[in-house]
Amino acid sequence: MQVASLHFRERAAGALANERLQANLRRFGSGFADKRAAARRAFGEEAFEQLRDAAAEIRDRALGDLDAWLLRFEAEASRRGTTVLWAQDADEVCRLVLEVCRRHGLAKAIKSKSMLSEEAGLNDALGAAGVNVVETDLGEYILQLAGEPPSHIIAPAIHKDQDEVSALFVKHHGRPATDDIARMTREAREVLRPHFLSADLGISGGNFLVAETGSVAIVTNEGNGRMVTTLPRVHIAITGIEKVIPTLEDLSALNRLLPRSATGQDIENYFSILTGPRAPGDADGPEHMFVILVDNGRSGLVGGALKEMLRCIRCGACMNHCPVYQTVGGHSYGWVYPGPMGSVLTPAYQGIENALDLPQAATLCGACHVACPVKIPLPDLLRTLREMQTDRGLRPWGERAAFRAWAFAARRPWLYAWATRIAARLLHWMGGRRGRIARLPLAGRGWTLGRDFPAPEGRTFRDLYRVGRKRRA
Ligand code: SF4
Repeated sequence: MQVASLHFRERAAGALANERLQANLRRFGSGFADKRAAARRAFGEEAFEQLRDAAAEIRDRALGDLDAWLLRFEAEASRRGTTVLWAQDADEVCRLVLEVCRRHGLAKAIKSKSMLSEEAGLNDALGAAGVNVVETDLGEYILQLAGEPPSHIIAPAIHKDQDEVSALFVKHHGRPATDDIARMTREAREVLRPHFLSADLGISGGNFLVAETGSVAIVTNEGNGRMVTTLPRVHIAITGIEKVIPTLEDLSALNRLLPRSATGQDIENYFSILTGPRAPGDADGPEHMFVILVDNGRSGLVGGALKEMLRCIRCGACMNHCPVYQTVGGHSYGWVYPGPMGSVLTPAYQGIENALDLPQAATLCGACHVACPVKIPLPDLLRTLREMQTDRGLRPWGERAAFRAWAFAARRPWLYAWATRIAARLLHWMGGRRGRIARLPLAGRGWTLGRDFPAPEGRTFRDLYRVGRKRRA
């Protein structure tokens, strides 16, 4: 997928001006976050926090010996008949999948949700090679019809309302319009059913790779994942190398957190553990099973300043709690991963020079860190990325000059006190009778683009502190 993250500002401005999108985002609101909070309460808040600690420890343990666990996974999966392939980058993912298609004479693929196939631009590569691809997750299917990328990792079409979906269905299904969601869902199911039955390749992601059994664990709410992985004669699971965990017990712990953090469910509707292709006597399953383990920038994070990001289990909780994501929507971020996790992953995988504004697209309120089931310190990682940008001289000269001036003053307390006193008085004067400033100049301009700035009362913190001390004395 093309990286458009350099244009975050323009994309976000477009999103803010798009009234329909804004209405759709408002409808999304705090729905998932409220459900997570209810699930956490029902689980027991203390127990939930203990589980988060345990989950972070499981992920760190796996990532601490990533090479060893991956080799163990490969050995166990191979022993059970799965072919494990390794892809260095997005191009290699496409090349490997196309090779499998050629070798097995595959002409039609059905897919369940796979963010890695989005990273790789796999649908385009398959289409160009003459392989017909049909997305079967309802949200992904809607987006395939619309020709759009996902805007949320667990609810990919969250930016669309039912009228937009209805119009798409009329255009592509040629059936009468309806805005009844249950009828539209039934219609999609009827259209998709023949594809499930006629495809010879199923492509899925993988939520976890279990090293001790060589299994791929997949969670879905729609059941399409089960059909994608069992009906076609070939199944390919494409997943990042960081998804490996040591044991089934670890899987059990992580999967108590994943659905609760994502959608507030105790457990997903479908939880599948896939271990090898169909064995003699099995009722279903593919004749051939492949797992493609993808690096695409991940190994560069191991042991580095952003290493905690590899713990991510793709639950979406950080974006569900992020005021920036909820205002600008997922497409503004310009690549596969939106929200706080995307603001770290995109620069980490695609280069910080290609996503200059993403680490700044955060209020650093900390809500993402508090919600993250594996305790990724997202605000710290965003700050680290900002430091990296500054060290490499990638920030605009005006910003650098402003920080240099601030640092100069901050090292000279008398100058800092004098400058802040002037600034406080000036801002108070600018606020006028209303006590609000409609437009700040220079570096403060961004603050007042969409709101007024409350003017200070004209005294600095030092002034107020002095008065308070005198009063107490
Ligand atoms: S960073 Fe944490 S909260 Fe965000 S998707 Fe990953 S695991 Fe979930």
